[in-house]
Amino acid sequence: MQYQAKHKHSLGRRCEGVASFTANAFVYESKEHPVRLSRANVVRNDGPGLKARGGKDWHFEFSGKDDKEVRSLFEDWYSRRARGRR
Ligand SMILES: [Zn+2]
Repeated sequence: MQYQAKHKHSLGRRCEGVASFTANAFVYESKEHPVRLSRANVVRNDGPGLKARGGKDWHFEFSGKDDKEVRSLFEDWYSRRARGRR
């Protein structure tokens, strides 16, 4: 599943890109801040986004979704277990 997304910077600026969730990773493609976080690189959900190992927070807006919806997308992805692939 892919979403037009904006990465929310701490000072209110945004960079634009495309966010997608795969079974094992969250991927954000952007010229400025591309990132790929596997579940193992995530410490926990954090607002509409994730807290990565090492302490960096990644917060996003998705086109057509409010903060609450974005938050539950991240929560669903993070709490999901890859089925039949252990
Ligand atoms: Zn950014």
